[in-house]
Formats: sequence, structure tokens, C-alpha cells
Amino acid sequence: MSTRSIGLDDNLYNYLLSVSLREPELFARLRQETDAMPEAMMQISPEQGQFMQMLVKLIGAKNALEIGTFTGYSALAVASALPEDGKLVACDISERFTAVGRPYWEEANVADKIDLRIGPAVDSLDALLAEGQEANFDFAFIDADKTNYANYYERCLKLVRPGGLIAIDNVLWDGSVANPADKSPDTQAIRALNTSLKNDERVDISLVPIGDGLTLARRLS
Ligand code: SAM
Ligand code: CA
Repeated sequence: MSTRSIGLDDNLYNYLLSVSLREPELFARLRQETDAMPEAMMQISPEQGQFMQMLVKLIGAKNALEIGTFTGYSALAVASALPEDGKLVACDISERFTAVGRPYWEEANVADKIDLRIGPAVDSLDALLAEGQEANFDFAFIDADKTNYANYYERCLKLVRPGGLIAIDNVLWDGSVANPADKSPDTQAIRALNTSLKNDERVDISLVPIGDGLTLARRLS
């Protein structure tokens, strides 16, 4: 027993998966196809996908937002957890990456729920605000370029309704955030957002050590 979060070695991680992962075969196929790409490490883990589905269902989300779609695994997970009339606005800069995911979205019958917006995500989020979508979203997942994390967070805080949830990925950045010698732009950007969130009175927070660290920020008002 322990009064701190448990670390997972391979054996325990595999046990966790064996007793709790309920990944559909289609989802696993998308992971397999992505695995063959040099950028495969960017994909969320399957248990994180399942956890995000739980969050989406718990808050009864209907409108969701994703910043950083890659080959579409997290979008597939979130869109599948939304109700029939739910919508996911998915933002990415890459046609090539997102094209991998589309056939899987089709096969899962969630393609109609996904509004993919290709371009710099700051512009896509500003366009949503200009369209009058302020406070229109229940859930947002931030997982694109790390140096823009603060920009994404501030926009998401406007786009998500009071009581809505923003999930921010990679906040532990493979441990680099806790290494003061690491001054890379990505590490510094994540560290800066982590630090500012600690005292951000606009949100409730919890940093969940799943995957590479996922901060949940719930908008208060
Ligand atoms: N959520 C995805 C998943 O689980 O498979 C992983 C996303 S991956 C870590 C980051 C994505 O952000 C890449 O697909 C990349 O093309 C995209 N990206 C990078 N810079 C961007 C920008 N300025 N605007 C929008 N997307 C960007
Ligand atoms: Ca990520």
C-alpha cells in the first residue's frame, strides 16, 4: 500500500491492461497502422483513450474539441463516446496524418460527428470564437505543439462552458519537466503552463499520471 501514486513497471502495466482495457478491434487496428509510422510515439495510449471516453460520458458531453488529431485515435475514442447527435471539432495542421484516421472514423460510423479543421490550431480556435462558439463546448483535449499550449488553453477556457472540462496532455513530458537542466522550448512551455495552472482560480485542477500525464482543468464560471 502507498500514500502516493503507484509507478507502473511493464509487468504491472500489462496487468492493468489485461484486467481493464476494453479496446474495440477497430481501435487496435488504427494503433497498429500508426505503429508503422516514425511519429507513432505521438499517439495516446489505449487506456488513456478509454479514460477520456469515461470523462466524456461522465460529464454528458455533446460538443467536444480536439487540438492535435494526428492519425485520429483520440478523435475516434472521443467521438465514439459522444451521443448520436454529438460533435467533435478536431484541429490539426496535417492532411497527411489525419488522412490515416478518416477510414477508421468511417468504419466506426463516427465520421459524421467529426468536423476536421486543417490549419494552425490557434487560427481554428480563433475562428470558432469568431463564429460565436464561446462556451459552446463541454470537453476539450489539448495535444498539439507544446509551445502553443498556453495559447490553446486560454482559447479553450473561452470555448468550454462553465463546468466543462479541458484535458491537457503530456504535462509530465517524460519526466523532463522535473529536470531543471532541461531548458528545451517544449519543456519550458509545458512547465510554464503547469506552474500557472496551480494557482489559476478560473479552474479546478487534477494532474492525473496516466500516459505522459494528463491535467484535467474544470472551468468554474
Ligand atoms: N491526439 C493525437 C492522438 O492521440 O493520436 C496525437 C496528437 S500529436 C501528439 C500532435 C499533432 O499536432 C500532430 O498531428 C501535428 O500535426 C499537430 N500540430 C502540430 N502543430 C500544430 C499546429 N500549429 N496547429 C495544429 N496542429 C498542429
Ligand atoms: Ca500526446
